[in-house]
Amino acid sequence: MTSVGIDLGTTNSLISYWSEEGPKLIPNALGDVLTPSVVGIDDKGDILIGKAAKERLITHPEHTVSDFKRTMGSDKQVTLGGKQEQNYTFRPEELSAFVLRSLKADAEIHLGMNITNAIISVPAYFNDIQRKATIDAGKLAGLEVDSLINEPTAAALAYGLNEVEESQFLIFDLGGGTFDVSILDKYDNIMEVRATAGDNFLGGNDFRDQLVTKLTEDHKLDFETLNRADQNRLNRLAEIIKQDLSSRDTSNYAATIAETELKGSITRESFEELAANLRRRLRVPIERAINDATLRPENIDNVVLVGGASRMPMIRRMVGRLFQKLPLSHLNPDEIVALGAAVQTGLKARDVALEDVVMTDVCPYTLGTSAVVDDNYENLVIVPIIERNAVVPISQSQKFYTIRDKQKEINLDIYQGENMRPEDNILLGNLRVEVPPDKAGIEGVDVRFTYDINGALEVEVTSISTKKTVRKIFKNQANLSDEELEQRFKALSGIKLHPREHAENAALLAKAERIYAESLRTQRDYVRSLILEFEQQISDQSNRDIDKIRENFANSLSELDNNIFDMD
Ligand code: AMP
Repeated sequence: MTSVGIDLGTTNSLISYWSEEGPKLIPNALGDVLTPSVVGIDDKGDILIGKAAKERLITHPEHTVSDFKRTMGSDKQVTLGGKQEQNYTFRPEELSAFVLRSLKADAEIHLGMNITNAIISVPAYFNDIQRKATIDAGKLAGLEVDSLINEPTAAALAYGLNEVEESQFLIFDLGGGTFDVSILDKYDNIMEVRATAGDNFLGGNDFRDQLVTKLTEDHKLDFETLNRADQNRLNRLAEIIKQDLSSRDTSNYAATIAETELKGSITRESFEELAANLRRRLRVPIERAINDATLRPENIDNVVLVGGASRMPMIRRMVGRLFQKLPLSHLNPDEIVALGAAVQTGLKARDVALEDVVMTDVCPYTLGTSAVVDDNYENLVIVPIIERNAVVPISQSQKFYTIRDKQKEINLDIYQGENMRPEDNILLGNLRVEVPPDKAGIEGVDVRFTYDINGALEVEVTSISTKKTVRKIFKNQANLSDEELEQRFKALSGIKLHPREHAENAALLAKAERIYAESLRTQRDYVRSLILEFEQQISDQSNRDIDKIRENFANSLSELDNNIFDMD
């Protein structure tokens, strides 16, 4: 077994495998199954990943980056290192590759073997470009990506595996940055995705941002003019308040940001009012998925909540009201996607325990080409070839004819999206095919779209009279070419990750420095003395009680951390 399942999340990432007893999660060097999707560079120029990097978002904002999944498939580069002599500029694929490399190392140590292949989950609504960027991230981390799996489909596999009953269920997946809905039908051992819909720019972070706005208004701060460290601090405060409001009615806070004392309280009710617009946005993909599956809300037997942000009580209530039943959340919403990805590796390896399970998935969006539909050459519209929610793999074709006399070639722009006008959709690429010049409407091409289970589109265009064929698998400009990929793989391989055996100390020290930065006066003095003492103790190689020392240091920090925001 060399293939693992990976949930490469906006906020956290997980790695899993299929075992004789079913899907299993693999802990990282700190013993946690969740590795924060945060990458940073330390003072020595080594790359820090996970918890230590997350703590340094506040103390070293120029050296640390999070939320890069949101920019996957774009050219947005981030420079880590600020003015430091050694600084690096990374693409979103490369930042993701660091997270993957760290997860791969965890799995190799845990399983005692080389890991070469992976199945990675992606939001169902990821487009072609974002999917290719994810596969490239795998390659950059030295992993062959066997396939991608849609996150809600993975969740359905983990959930549905244990469900014996026949049922129609809806997966409601609200993560840090994305929202996906899928409707599935389970009968016998077949799980069929009936419809999927989503919003790539709606997640728990947007709910947090509502609180950031409220805090800035209440305390007369201007977010844009704050430095990065203070912005991160404010985000962290809002994040803590948000999570706090999942378990209590009022959250009291006290913090110092940009030399302003922030003290106050926010009620769950006011937070829910602030988020009303976001809840409205959540309804759009839900309604679309139900319509596409030709169902009504009352036909859904169960709703499964997935993703950390589904823990907010307003989400449970909203789902309860829409479907007139309490949603299920007996599986840990943070872990279910990774468990499902592991099930998929088992399916792929044709494990005997899974022999009868069949899973079918759909293409989440419409794919088509632009064409003239009347005599007005300027009036281009989209002609759908594969419609959204068609079961994959799928191959469909359509014929197109010349529109001008003596036309020598037919040009096809390939689009993804639901809008009528080409410019309102995503342009995936372009193909040109020569045809013999003749009267308009005589010569034509047969255009075939083939969409596979990974979400890769192949377009084949054949001239009807000459049979000449042009075939293309789309790589967008935002994606790396094979040569660039090779070059960047070499460059990344030369960059050292922070040594795994020091991960625990690095995470604790990063946390301590963050607490130091957040505290004042006597507390500061105390944290400083704790840090210096710990540093001295760990530098003493002969010290045999290192585990005990670490535990004491961790306990002292936890106690301090609980006090910082004055949350009682
Ligand atoms: P995921 O991408 O599934 O890891 O989900 C991460 C998102 O879940 C982030 O936006 C977190 O803020 C959010 N989240 C995690 N725990 C809670 C909680 N207890 N209450 C509200 N949101 C949460």
